[in-house]
This record gives sequence, C-alpha cells and structure tokens, in this order.
Amino acid sequence: MNPSISSIDEPVAGLNAKQTKWLDTLGVRTRGDLLFYLPRRYEDRTNFKPLSEALDGEWLVMRGSIRSTKTMRWRGGRRVFEAMLTAHATSETLRCRWYNLYYLNKLLVKDREIVLFGKLTRDKAGWLMTQPEFEVVEEDAESFIHFNRITPIYPLAEGVPQRGLRRLMYEMTRPEVVHCPEIYPAPADLMPLQEAIPVAHFPISHDEQRRAIQRLAYDEFFYLQCVVVRRRFQCESIRKPRTRVVQTALAGKFISSLPFQPTGAQQRVMEEIGTDMDRPVPMHRLLQGDVGSGKTLVAVYAMLHAVERGERAALMAPTEILAEQHYLNLQRWLSPLGIAVHLHTGSRKTLFAKTAESEDQSTFLEDRGTVIVGTHALLYESFAMERLGLIVIDEQHKFGVMQRLALVQKGEAPDILVMTATPIPRTLSMTLYGDLDVSILDELPPGRGEIITLRRRVSDLERVWEGMRTELAKGHQAYVVYPLIDESEKVDAKAVQAEYEHVRDVLHPYVTGLLHGRMKSDEKEQTMSEFRAGRIQALVSTPVIEVGVDVPNATVMVIESAERFGLAQLHQLRGRIGRGANRSFCILVGYAKSEEGWKRLKIMEETCDGFRIAEEDFHIRGPGDIFGAKQSGLPPLRVADLFRDQDLLQRARDDAEKVLRADQVLTRYPELRMRLARLTEQNNNLAHVG
Ligand code: ADP
Ligand code: MG
Repeated sequence: MNPSISSIDEPVAGLNAKQTKWLDTLGVRTRGDLLFYLPRRYEDRTNFKPLSEALDGEWLVMRGSIRSTKTMRWRGGRRVFEAMLTAHATSETLRCRWYNLYYLNKLLVKDREIVLFGKLTRDKAGWLMTQPEFEVVEEDAESFIHFNRITPIYPLAEGVPQRGLRRLMYEMTRPEVVHCPEIYPAPADLMPLQEAIPVAHFPISHDEQRRAIQRLAYDEFFYLQCVVVRRRFQCESIRKPRTRVVQTALAGKFISSLPFQPTGAQQRVMEEIGTDMDRPVPMHRLLQGDVGSGKTLVAVYAMLHAVERGERAALMAPTEILAEQHYLNLQRWLSPLGIAVHLHTGSRKTLFAKTAESEDQSTFLEDRGTVIVGTHALLYESFAMERLGLIVIDEQHKFGVMQRLALVQKGEAPDILVMTATPIPRTLSMTLYGDLDVSILDELPPGRGEIITLRRRVSDLERVWEGMRTELAKGHQAYVVYPLIDESEKVDAKAVQAEYEHVRDVLHPYVTGLLHGRMKSDEKEQTMSEFRAGRIQALVSTPVIEVGVDVPNATVMVIESAERFGLAQLHQLRGRIGRGANRSFCILVGYAKSEEGWKRLKIMEETCDGFRIAEEDFHIRGPGDIFGAKQSGLPPLRVADLFRDQDLLQRARDDAEKVLRADQVLTRYPELRMRLARLTEQNNNLAHVG
C-alpha cells in the first residue's frame, strides 16, 4: 500500500483534548476530512471599504473601535444591545445592533477593536449593521493568523470556537505538513492539489483562492464522474440472456388501437427505445418529458416490446394512487391484446394471490405475456420474477440512484427505463443520471387547452370560489390542494380534514371529496375512482396527487399557501390540469407572510416551461431537495457548485471517461482505485441509512 494515500485516511494526529472534541463535533475524522473542511466564506481583513463608498443593503467587512455601548429594552420586552463604532482609518460612525444577546456587554467594551461582517443599511440616524458577525481584534502572537489577511471563516457547531479552529487549521494546512500528491492525471492548467489545499484555507489573494477552489471542485467532480462512468461501463459489460420472439407486431397493434396519433416526439423516442432494447446489453435509459407529454404511452410501447420477446415487464410508480391509475389504463389497453395486467402494491396484490383459476392463469401468462404494475415498494420485497425483461420506473426524481442499482442487480439483467417529468438541468443530469442514455419528449400532444395561472391573496378567496363554481357549473372538475403543514402526517390529515369541511360547505351543492396520505388504500381508491367518473366534482387533497394523476375533465386547481411549495412541485401539480381541450385555471393562493415567496410565484404566472421553472428552482433552493441528490448514493459535493462550475464538470466527465476507457480496473492508478473504493463504500453506507 502506498503510504502517501493512506495518510489521508488516517485519523488526525497531534491534537490536544479540546481540539479532539471540536473535530469530533464537526464530524472530522481523518486527515482528508480535515484538509477538505473548507471555509464557508472569507473575509478580506486587509482592505476595508470606507462607508462613504458603501451601498445601502451591501454585505461588508468592517473594522472599527467601540466608542460607546448601551442596552435598550424595546416594546414587547425585546432586548437590544447597541454599539457605536468609529470605523478603522476613517472617522466615520457605524451603529451595530444585536438582539437578545446578554453576554455582549462583557465582550464589546469601550475602546475594543472589532472586525465585523454584516449587511449594511441606512436609516435616519446613519449607517447601521444588524446582527453582524464579529471578532475582537487581539494583538498577540497569533494575530497574523486572524487579522490583516484574507481570513477564512469556517462552518462551526455548538462549542467550537472560530478562532481556535482557525488556528488549528492553520497548523494543519501549512504547505510543509500537507501531503497530497496527485493520484490521477489532473489537467496541467489547474493548480496542483498540494498547493491548492493550503491556499484554499489561507489564500494570499482572491484570485489565488478562486483557482484553489476550482481545483478542489474539479477533484470532487472527477471522483464523482469516475463513479458514474464506471457504473456505466459495468452495465455495458453485461449481456442479456438470449430471448426468443414469441409474438410480433404487438406494439404496433397497440398503437393503431389508440384513438389518437402518437406525436412526432413519441414516435422518435419509441424508435430509440426499440433499437436500444434490441441490443445485446441491457438498456439503461432516462425518458425525460414535461408533464402531460405522454410518457405512459411510450412506457406501454416498451413493455409490449418486451412481451413480444416472451418476457415480462414491470411498471413502478411512486404512489399507490398512480399505480392504481396505471393499472386501470393498462388493463383497458392491453386486455384486448390478450395480455394479463397485475397490480402489486403494499395493500393490493393480484399477482401472487391464489385464485381458483390460478392454473389457467399460469398458462395464460406463459402464452400471452404479463405486465405487472406496482409501487416502488416492489423493490423492497423479495420480488424476483422469471423472465423479467423490462422495468419501467415512473417519476424517477422520487427515486435514488442506489435504488436503481438494486434493480439492475435483480433478475436477469433487465432493460431499465426511468421516466421523469422534472426537466433536469444538464449538469445535474450528468451527475445524477450520468450512467443513463437520455431520450427527450419535447412536444405536447395537440389539442391541449391553455392554462392560465394567477396569484391571488387570501382576501380574494371568495372570488376564487365563485370562479370555481362557474367552472363546476359547466360540468368541469377541480382540485383544491393544501400543502403538507407539518412533518407528521397526522397533523396534516387533521388540517386538511378541517379545510375540506369548509370547502364542502362553500361549494355546496357540488360534490366534494377528500384525499390524503393517511387514508386507507381502498378509501383512496374509492375517492379517486369517483373523481375519475365525475361523481366527485371537486377534490380536496394534500400533494399526494402531485404526480401522474390524469383526469382531463379537471380544469381548475386552487393551491392554498402556494408559497410553501417549491416551483418544481407547483409545476408538477399544475400538470394535473390542462389535459383536456378546455381552458384551465391554476390559482395560487398566497398568504403574504413572505413577500419573497409571493414574488417567486410570479414565474408560475409567466411560464409553463418546465425547464425554465426547474432552473429557477435550482437557483433558489440548490439541487439537493429538488432532485433527491442526497439519497442519490453519489459522493457529496462540498466545494463544487453544479451551477457555477458547469464547464469543470464537463471536463471532469471527459477526463474520467478517458482514464477509465484506457484502463478500466485502474492498474496504472492504484491510489485512485483505492479512493474510489473508499468513496463507494462510504456512500453505500450513507444511502442505506437514507
Ligand atoms: P405524462 O407524460 O405526464 O405521464 P401521460 O402519459 O399521463 O403524460 O399522458 C397525458 C394524457 O395525454 C393522457 O390522457 C394520454 O392518454 C394523452 N396522450 C398521450 N399521448 C397522446 C397523443 N399523441 N395525442 C393525444 N393525447 C395523448
Ligand atoms: Mg406520468
């Protein structure tokens, strides 16, 4: 074993008891963890902008000495501590204010020098910083670590002092003690790792710091892409068992039985999938298409293609409601072709149930083929089927990479098609789905009514209900969606129950129904089927209807507390309407508590383009919570930014491919091989916990 690489994985040595405790608290175990425990931001404590050049609302680093302090008590008992400062090197005055921090009067006393970071505002009395972060300047032996430089500010946890940690990092990241040789051929124009690590912690200039972070970001991307590319190569090395063609033209028959023509995009994608499925290696394909673009049809086509070869096919949905709906549709479409469709969810199983005709059934399956519809729960059961040739996973964004991997390892190297309506920004799909080929449905079926989206305040609710009654009077249907209010579904169920009773009264005599996650499966099913049949006219629901539900007669959706939802989720929800030829209305009701949230909703009024909405969401919230990146089973990104560093990601992708294509088992780079093994191991553990 090469000693240089293992030293990164060794525990941090030479710590005193206090430091050991800090690192423990921060989850830093190995030297590698420590070297990559990077600042969350930097303060330039060499150059201070004079207040005369500052802007209202600007985030700023300041230095000054305390002239006077006072503690005030505001109405409502709120305590305010205020300090007047004279800014460093000028005689300008800055007021600083902190709320309810009792110990401050001990720390911030007259004549002390402090460095501050905060948002500057201007009021009648002059410049003001509220709740700034600060550090007291001390001229001692180590002050050169903390002041008069570009100073790193580390992320902290309870009981870990900024200055103590910074001093420790300074010791541990001195160029003489950092030992980080290259373990793969990194691009020559990037800073060497050995240099980048010390610089990323204690940079001399902003430019240098940026270059160091770039290198570390590349490093993360490179490992990530190695994992993804290797997974892809592994998949490509698998051979499918040889299959016999039992029936021909099943898929064609299905298409011609439909009351409409497939769109051009559907046709193209079906061809891509057909070709891919005929290859000797298993298909691993992502089908991306906005809500309503007709992915189900493509899925059925693929499933029939499997059945033609004498194989079985499974379709998995994220919710029981959706599985149920797919089951009904598939039965309607496939029974005429003599194909048995089975439903297999947590609460309903038609597949393994023993029936009187089970013997007949088995010959039936044998001859004509079988399609199984289930929830993702299918995965967790000891579900292995003979001759399972294709697995389709609907609404993949709810579904992690590790889960997908578990599938590949099941059965006889089945083809896999994952479908998502989330228009994923390219950089993200390269990471999350980098091991998949991609097909895109970029065309909506014709004859869809327009969707008009409007923001409304609560005070307008009366008019909203009025509008809804008008639509219901035309024989149309409606959704009323309430957000998840609490972590616990119990509370939600109660809240939505109360709202339901209110809406029921308001809409009387139209018939309303209620749907939420706490209901029993058969109750949910009952409600959905009545809604589908038009006996329920307005459906009050939690976001359980978010994905996939398809009732073309529904033309109104009212989303309550809309600002609580992410944009991508609103887009999904809105996809439930506008499915028929009629004009639809999506009303976003805001509670005006958060102006920011209200403004954010504007984009929903402006566009129905899922791509734009996803990018916007990505900007606002980061990739994590939108796409389930946390459960993706991929190494976490600590430095790299999928948005800012798109070019780097592409480079890392190309480089990883080059290295691995030349040498799949990495005999030339044993340290890299070990690193990847360790990363994969860590992430598998993480993914299982998650
Ligand atoms: P999604 O991509 O959101 O899963 P669906 O598969 O649920 O979309 O399709 C939405 C609706 O469009 C369904 O009612 C489906 O029958 C209909 N549909 C699908 N393809 C076409 C087409 N080519 N022409 C007309 N209607 C179509
Ligand atoms: Mg769908």
